[in-house]
Amino acid sequence: MPESHKAEKRRIQKANRAAGIGDEQGRIVRVKAAAVMSKCTICAVELKVTKTCTEIKQHAENKHGKTIEEVFPDAMPAAEEMNAARATPAAAPGPTKKEKKKAAAGGLDDLLSAGLSAAPGKKKGGKK
Ligand SMILES: [Zn+2]
Repeated sequence: MPESHKAEKRRIQKANRAAGIGDEQGRIVRVKAAAVMSKCTICAVELKVTKTCTEIKQHAENKHGKTIEEVFPDAMPAAEEMNAARATPAAAPGPTKKEKKKAAAGGLDDLLSAGLSAAPGKKKGGKK
């Protein structure tokens, strides 16, 4: 009999408890932080600060032709804080996009250095 969703959940929660993560039930609870608002210094509209600040950026650039820093001075620090909080292991299981990219680049470097170290030497003493 295949494992039911309920059993799977229980199993994961048990594993979480054993690993010492999650709450007393072993559940990983994502605590949603209260929305951070940033006020436009020009038209005083309040916009929600997100990780990417898309809305704020659009407002600053399209409405006022300025940068986020000029119009929403407190937005970027708040967004960076948000990104930093997200980067903690509890909040983001598994490698981040950046880490994956880095790993891929590292693999590429390995290939490159392997290719480079294998290439020279053979031509030594050859025709001039
Ligand atoms: Zn504005």
